[in-house]
Amino acid sequence: MPPSFDVRLDDLTGARAESREAAQDSDSILAGPPSELGVNKSPTRQNQRYGDDASPTRHSPAKVARRAGSQGYSPPQPWAPTTKAAGDDASPARQSQHHGDGACSTHPVLGDERTFYIETFGCQMNVHDSEKVAGVLLGRGYQQVETVDAAKLVFYNTCSIREKAAQKVFSRLGEFRKHPDHGKVIGVLGCVAQQEGEEIFERAPWVSLVCGSASYSKLPTLLAQLEAGNRRVTGLDTDTDETFETEMTRRDNPFRAYLTIIEGCDKSCSYCVVPYTRGPERSRSSASVLEEVRKLAGAGYSEIQLLGQTVNSYRDPAPRGKTFAELLVTVAAVPGIRRVRFTTSHPRDFGRDIVEAIDSVPALCDHVHLPVQSGSTRVLRAMQRTYTREEYLDKIALIRSARRPISVTSDIIVGFPGETERDVAETLSLLDAAQYDGVFAFQYSPRPNTASLQMGDSIPEEEKGRRLAIVQDRQREIQVARNNELVGQTFEVLVDGASRRPGQWTGRSSSNRILNFSSPHSDLLGQYIQVRATGASPNSLVGEQII
Ligand code: SAM
Ligand code: SF4
Repeated sequence: MPPSFDVRLDDLTGARAESREAAQDSDSILAGPPSELGVNKSPTRQNQRYGDDASPTRHSPAKVARRAGSQGYSPPQPWAPTTKAAGDDASPARQSQHHGDGACSTHPVLGDERTFYIETFGCQMNVHDSEKVAGVLLGRGYQQVETVDAAKLVFYNTCSIREKAAQKVFSRLGEFRKHPDHGKVIGVLGCVAQQEGEEIFERAPWVSLVCGSASYSKLPTLLAQLEAGNRRVTGLDTDTDETFETEMTRRDNPFRAYLTIIEGCDKSCSYCVVPYTRGPERSRSSASVLEEVRKLAGAGYSEIQLLGQTVNSYRDPAPRGKTFAELLVTVAAVPGIRRVRFTTSHPRDFGRDIVEAIDSVPALCDHVHLPVQSGSTRVLRAMQRTYTREEYLDKIALIRSARRPISVTSDIIVGFPGETERDVAETLSLLDAAQYDGVFAFQYSPRPNTASLQMGDSIPEEEKGRRLAIVQDRQREIQVARNNELVGQTFEVLVDGASRRPGQWTGRSSSNRILNFSSPHSDLLGQYIQVRATGASPNSLVGEQII
């Protein structure tokens, strides 16, 4: 799923700060649309554009302001080392000191100092969860700060979709080992919290809160317990039927708002941890979704991105509730809303009514992220994806039959257990047939609890890397050709970034293409303007504002 202000393609947006580690972290390579032309140039940013990767987002209250005048902005360092000599407090002695009920005399407590720092790893749903967590904290009188150093309460909102993503948080937690007198209260949220549970206290005894993604509704209670002096608090249920709704959400992006309409996942793809970490599917009522959209429109947001692991599996819990397509149309009709996106769609639940809605309502963006995972029916069956190659291609044909051209992007996993050269060839031929506008490709990563764990991990990492490169190369060729065909066309662009170079801006089209363009105007951020494409690269277009 899609990241952000400086974020990626299908995300298409969540606010991410730059991180060198992010590039190393993700084994995805995007054949999607980050810019090569100035504004979002670095490979790091390319990876950040993928919402499902492990690249971290540091939620910075000042980020938007900085981004708006992005000259010379360098992202905050999450941890500025103190001068205190580093002890190894992961030693057995120290572990037992902190373990048990956690009532060790040196375990920091919250006290009156109400500052927090939150760093997010993973998909837009995690980015948005962090926005809601920040809202809960702000509502309790906390102040958000930009560095770990400045914070009393430090939260990591984690991702465990691939192993590298999960490791990332332990590397962050390991930093505190070097600073035994950090005096901070540390919390681990999200999918790693859910997956590892109280084991996190074993591995990092300085952690005080572990709360899984399915238990965020308990966060106010857990915070109250911490404030009351409790030293170890957990929220790890996955059997909840609640969704995470908050009175206040502190959104990172001033123009584009995320809104989760369905949490959890009831599919059981054999490789995927999400059903274990996020629990069963729970949809929000359409009335509650619409109420929030109206508030967002009132607050000046013009683009809404509806989120869900399988967003189109949405089931309105109200009697005679809306279908997903009806919800899309209703959200798009809210005065002030100019664009509605949604991600991620599952092919099985993707029907004609969604295409018809996009066709008839201009505010519904002409972009669908429809992950295929493999072009081989044999592998799809082993992945328990519930469709064949042919059935998937029928969905693509349905989308291509729309009156409006609709951009389609996808996710692919290479190196699934037992994948043969022939299976890879079928994935390549599916790329040719589907003609995607962007693909996020990943090397298979065995995950705890998943069915595919029993299948072993038969493809060596080096071979997975080779297959990944082949898939990316083929997709890059497709994108070069597709983007070249767009040169000369005019796009309506929502401007969401300014280049360091004067007169250079970046924005996204309804089809989620990144356009880097020149304009003699200033103060374009947040505006919808017409841009003519004058050049193309695999991941973006260049252009000029039509005056
Ligand atoms: N719900 C979405 C769907 O059904 O397509 C995908 C959500 S998942 C968070 C995002 C992507 O991560 C998946 O589409 C898949 O390509 C990738 N992914 C999930 N589990 C993986 C694993 N064990 N190894 C490698 N990639 C994985
Ligand atoms: Fe994971 Fe499959 Fe659910 Fe997507 S549909 S979140 S890949 S289990």
